[in-house]
Parts: sequence; C-alpha cells; structure tokens
Amino acid sequence: MSAEVDARLVAERISTLQHHLAALAPENSVGIVAVTKGFGVDAPRAALAAGLTMVGENYAQELIAKHEELTPEEREQIQWHFLGRLQRNKVRSLAPIVSVWQSVDRVELIEEIARRSAGASVMIQLNISGEPQKGGAALGDCGSLVRSAQGSGLVVVGLMGVGAAEDESTSRDGFRHLVELAEDLGLPERSIGMSDDLDLAVAEGSTMVRIGTALFGPRGPRTPA
Ligand SMILES: *Cc1c(COP(=O)(O)O)cnc(C)c1O
Repeated sequence: MSAEVDARLVAERISTLQHHLAALAPENSVGIVAVTKGFGVDAPRAALAAGLTMVGENYAQELIAKHEELTPEEREQIQWHFLGRLQRNKVRSLAPIVSVWQSVDRVELIEEIARRSAGASVMIQLNISGEPQKGGAALGDCGSLVRSAQGSGLVVVGLMGVGAAEDESTSRDGFRHLVELAEDLGLPERSIGMSDDLDLAVAEGSTMVRIGTALFGPRGPRTPA
C-alpha cells in the first residue's frame, strides 16, 4: 500500500521550496533530496519531472523495486541516495543502483561498499541528537571513519545527520557540530534538514536538505521490508 502522488501538486511544492531555500540562503545553493519512502514509483517520477534528480530511500527492497519500474531514460537521470539503516548484506544488491550512500556509520559498511562499489560516493552519518534509536556514529568517531573511508578509496562527499525529534536546541547544537566537523575535515556537503527542521538546518549551514512529507504529503503505513 502506498499513498497517492499528485505530480502537479508535487511540482508546485518543489518550486515553492526552491524559492524558500533561495531566500533563506541567497549566497549558497542548497540541494534538495526528494525522499520517496512510503510512496510508489510515481513519487520519484514526479520529482524528476519537476527537475529534481537526487532521490532518497530508506529501505533496500523499496529502492530496488522503484528503480526497476523506471524507464531507462529515468534511470539515467536519477541519482539514488541511500538514507536508511543499512545492513551489510544489502550492499551488494544496492551497489549497482545507489549513487550516494548517506548513512555510512561503521567500518564494516565502509569495507563492504568499497568492495562492491569501488570509488563510490559516501557520507558519514553522525548521531547528532544522542537518541540511541537513531543511526549514526558518535561525533568522536567521525574523523577516523572519514579517514578509513578515504583509505578504502571511497569519496567522502560530506556528513549527514538527523535532528532531534522535538527539541530545537538539541537539533541546533547537533547541526552546528556537524557543520564544524565538515569544515575541519574539508568535506563539502552537510546533509541536514528534513521537512520539520529545514529552516534551522539551513541557518546552520546545510548544503543539502532531505525532504519527504513537505513534497509528497503524509506517508502511508510502511510495508515490511
Ligand atoms: C524519512 C527521512 C527523511 C524525510 O523526512 P520528512 O520529515 O518526511 O521530510 C529525511 N532523512 C531521513 C534519514 C529519513 O529517514
């Protein structure tokens, strides 16, 4: 079961969001990853039709199923970003499809991605909210994970983090730490900001927001992966 997608409405929301981001951060461009989990192939299609090419998914099966439904032309255009908790045994089937692995948080994954997709682009996910149920490495492990990924031949394009669910000041601190670490390590991308905290994330230096609900509406119940 996946919720319906109204492509015209999605295009309007994307345009509104682009204007909003341009007003919030006039001097740097903030990329939009359209997060399509919980929706069918109509969601990545609507994003592509409106000019977005970065599309994010959390679950391996869901990503692969949508990719298989796309036309060859659409597959050429799309850049899949993997955002979810990643199990090592899913890397092999995702490797031919995923462009950017955003949720890399341990050496085991670095080794497996380097093995299955040499030279791939990755981000190190940091647990910036301190919530144990969320993925991501401890801030103190960031430098060694970045070096390990680089040493394995992966291209570390940036850092990714998920804000605290309900606590704005925890989110702000977390975003700030992540941006500082990215600067110290010379990493260009800071993937922070979702539908509910994108203004805060952009104010703190986001270069890439990951937006689901604000583009596609509420998600249907999750199908078991
Ligand atoms: C679901 C998800 C998003 C999008 O969340 P919205 O609140 O719907 O914008 C972004 N990033 C990650 C890691 C997610 O799991």
